[in-house]
Amino acid sequence: MTEYLQAAEAYREQVAQFLRDIIRLPSPSCGEKEVAERVVAEMRMLGYSEAFIDPMGNAVGRVGNGAVRLVLDAHMDTVGVGNPSAWPHDPYEGKLENDIVFGRGASDNKGALAAQVYAGKVLAERGLDGADVSVFIVGTVMEEDCDGLALGYVLQETIPDVRAVVLGECTNLDVFRGHRGRMEMKVVTTGISSHASAPERGDNAVTHMAPIVLAIDSLNERLAEDTFLGKGTVATTKIECDTASLNAIPDSCAIYLDRRLTAGETRALALEQIQDLLADGARVEILTYAEPSHTGFVLETAKYYPTWTLDEDHPLVTAGLAAGEAALGRKPATSRWTFSTNGVSSAGELGIPTIGFGPSEEKWAHTVLDQCPVDHLVASIAYYAALPRALEGLS
Ligand SMILES: [Zn+2]
Repeated sequence: MTEYLQAAEAYREQVAQFLRDIIRLPSPSCGEKEVAERVVAEMRMLGYSEAFIDPMGNAVGRVGNGAVRLVLDAHMDTVGVGNPSAWPHDPYEGKLENDIVFGRGASDNKGALAAQVYAGKVLAERGLDGADVSVFIVGTVMEEDCDGLALGYVLQETIPDVRAVVLGECTNLDVFRGHRGRMEMKVVTTGISSHASAPERGDNAVTHMAPIVLAIDSLNERLAEDTFLGKGTVATTKIECDTASLNAIPDSCAIYLDRRLTAGETRALALEQIQDLLADGARVEILTYAEPSHTGFVLETAKYYPTWTLDEDHPLVTAGLAAGEAALGRKPATSRWTFSTNGVSSAGELGIPTIGFGPSEEKWAHTVLDQCPVDHLVASIAYYAALPRALEGLS
């Protein structure tokens, strides 16, 4: 057993209990107050030198005072539970069975949150292995609603000059280095209302939308493919129209598009591809997000989440793999996520080197079998504790 695993093993029961405790505090996006307070209380109990909630509502703890600033990020919010009767157990009970913790958020992303909070304790005990590093443990808000928004705020306002970010999103204990980006768009067509008994007097906005919907399906087939990230996609996910009545011709119609962006696909390109499908009188726009956080903080942003990848030979990937070897006694594989993460802001917008390492697997996220093995919590604590020494070569 490695020295890091040995140190992490001492907290096996506590970290599992802490995960169960925070699963019992439901935390939808914009409703993370209780979890944030619990996280900060745990950090203080564990002897963190600093632990606070920032103005946006993110929980932030600090260990060490070195020059190289490292952020460990896990988001505190979860999606809802859907139909509660579809669950084999209470999603908010924090069930522990066969050394696996079950419940909403166990995999996405409270398992990593619990492991990172306890990693802070191990990091402090080890004096960060003497490395010239400060580690900030961050529980972010609103990731499920607007990935990247809160971490982007933290990296610009709460903790500037961060050199590297490690996301705790599920990687099944491997090292991930990117994912496709995404965008939410709305296409609007307009027409002229008339009595539906004489459609020829009007101009039907829904009819104008019909060829656009079909053209979007065929655009999807032509989109670029990337061997590492996968294919870009576009799909119509909602349609609505404005009509005076069921006996009137609609004068406005809107569709919503989910666009996944692969390597090389930018916001401008994705907009232009839709624009090219539109006749006069139709328009496309990117949706915006402007929900208040649990502290009432509003940060309006376009729903554009850029693609990002860190090169396989980037020093942070090398350091991330070295930490895996030191902590787990094996070299992790490198891969990428299928879903999107807070990396859209840290790496995609701000260009801060970012990798991921986290407990559990993406396949359990947002499912009724949401789960995290306790062994993964312990391994993740060991991994995060091994990062400062591995990062020392990072310029
Ligand atoms: Zn997540």
